[in-house]
Amino acid sequence: MKHDIRTFISYIQLIKGLSKNYFILVILSALVQTAQPFVNIIMLRFIIDELTVYKVASQLIMYISIMVIGNLVIGLLDRLMARSLELKNHLLMADIELQLGKKIMDVHFKYLEDAKVLNLREQVMFFINNKMTIVGLLNRFIQSVVGLIGFLIIVVTMNVYILLLVVAVVIFNSYIYKKMKNREFEHEQNQVLFNRKWSYYIGLAINFFTAKDIRLYNISPFIMNKTKKYHEDAITANDKITHYKGKSYGLSSLAIQIQNAVIVAYAAYRVFKQNITIGQFTMYISSANLLSNHLTELTRSVIEFRQMCKHIDNFITFNRIPEPDKDGNRIFPNDLKLEFKNVSFSYNDDSSLVLKNVSIILQMGEKLAIVGPNGAGKTTFIKLLCRLYKPQAGEILLGGKNIQTYDYEEYMKLLSVVFQDYKLLPFSIRENLDNESQRSDDAMEEVLKQVGLFEKIQEIPKRLNTSIYKTLDSSGIELSGGQYQKLVIARNILKDAPILILDEPTSSLDPYAEAEIYQHFNVLAKGRTTIYISHRMSSCTFCDKVAVFDQGEIVEYGTHQELLNKKKVYAGMWHAQATYYN
Ligand code: ADP
Repeated sequence: MKHDIRTFISYIQLIKGLSKNYFILVILSALVQTAQPFVNIIMLRFIIDELTVYKVASQLIMYISIMVIGNLVIGLLDRLMARSLELKNHLLMADIELQLGKKIMDVHFKYLEDAKVLNLREQVMFFINNKMTIVGLLNRFIQSVVGLIGFLIIVVTMNVYILLLVVAVVIFNSYIYKKMKNREFEHEQNQVLFNRKWSYYIGLAINFFTAKDIRLYNISPFIMNKTKKYHEDAITANDKITHYKGKSYGLSSLAIQIQNAVIVAYAAYRVFKQNITIGQFTMYISSANLLSNHLTELTRSVIEFRQMCKHIDNFITFNRIPEPDKDGNRIFPNDLKLEFKNVSFSYNDDSSLVLKNVSIILQMGEKLAIVGPNGAGKTTFIKLLCRLYKPQAGEILLGGKNIQTYDYEEYMKLLSVVFQDYKLLPFSIRENLDNESQRSDDAMEEVLKQVGLFEKIQEIPKRLNTSIYKTLDSSGIELSGGQYQKLVIARNILKDAPILILDEPTSSLDPYAEAEIYQHFNVLAKGRTTIYISHRMSSCTFCDKVAVFDQGEIVEYGTHQELLNKKKVYAGMWHAQATYYN
């Protein structure tokens, strides 16, 4: 319970941070909603008594007027509050979702490949989409407390045993409800894994990126079978929980009917005995009913609150996933010499090392080519340099200081990276080239010329404002793989960062386009420290140094000519590729 209260406080703080007067509105709205039945029950009692016993017309008119005006005012206030609460609720949900999205963008990259974190994200999304009960819950809680006090007083004046009967039925029903909610929570948690797999399979089916493979390899029946199996499992699980819930609600309803029958019988007995008036009879019965409802609501909202705490816990745990260091050093030395010093790294702490004791120095402005077979650790080397992961041993230094000591965002400004699996967004060419809108059209056109895309873009009516892909804009363009890659290279030239990293930048370019990029290599890399990973050995000729990676180690290092003269690994790779051209 202590833990739940702490969780609830954290959540309230989160909501308060997003919307300040939200809770005041919730409380006012609950008070207004409680007032309505109260006014009606009490006024109805006086009206019936006037009609059956006292029969004074002026009094009757007064009671009816109070009831009507009271209802009108309360109804109006209620609608007004409900409207602004609904609006606030939508905004809040959107803000929470946005906060989650921002968190996913900000967390340390390594966590995004961790299955535990992926499941947690699903659980949090589930909570956001289905469990945003905080408004209803607080509302119900406050309403039931206020109503409880009022109706309790009325019922006690009737008979204390009736009060005890109501309490006993509520306790019985709460017990059933709690059991049912626990089962429901368990069910929802189990659904999370299912949902993740289900979304993946459905994504495969509807995603255009996989459309070609699905057709060529006839993967469709395989995906359909997998999806069907998951669907069947989910339906079976849903069946079970629905059946269980049906039974629980039935039992609760039976207990309430028995309680109501006893109360009506007792009140009727008192009317026969002429202990109470007909007006009091209706007031007592309605009050006992509402007391029972409010007590039930109160216990249920407490149970649901505790249930919700588990979901909120997930949310809070997710929010606590570490983000890269943001308050590091923002001042960089003039000499941006890069150094890997005995760096070792493995993706999972328990698995074998992907980089083993790697040491290399890259002077400022120097151009390094990295070659080696697939899986040698070349991209991992770059990922460490980009601080997507931290090495388990050794250090990476920039200007003599560990790269982890620099402010993350400032550090990233120093790097221009073209990954093999680069991503462009379905926005305009202009936004893709410079999402911070800092560069002029002239500067953009200049880099487009450098990568050989200028003419192509000039031909399109909207030019730089043309959207890429048709995802968000039906007039968007589809380019060839090579053209997309040129655009990515252009984006990186424009960034004008002092360190340029090209990981297989020409892999989807045709020989002409590749030659074009090679011709412009000196322009691309001018004055920048450059790391160039490529399977095209010819790219090594225009780099100052070459490092040959194999099984996580640098097995050869030197100039192109030195390594050729060595006649070992590099020379072997060079000649192997050259064979096909001779
Ligand atoms: P290269 O770029 O030289 O082809 P990589 O650096 O991509 O090689 O990969 C080196 C090794 O690390 C490979 O064995 C690869 O399977 C493994 N690896 C790459 N990325 C991950 C990851 N996210 N999780 C676990 N292992 C990975």
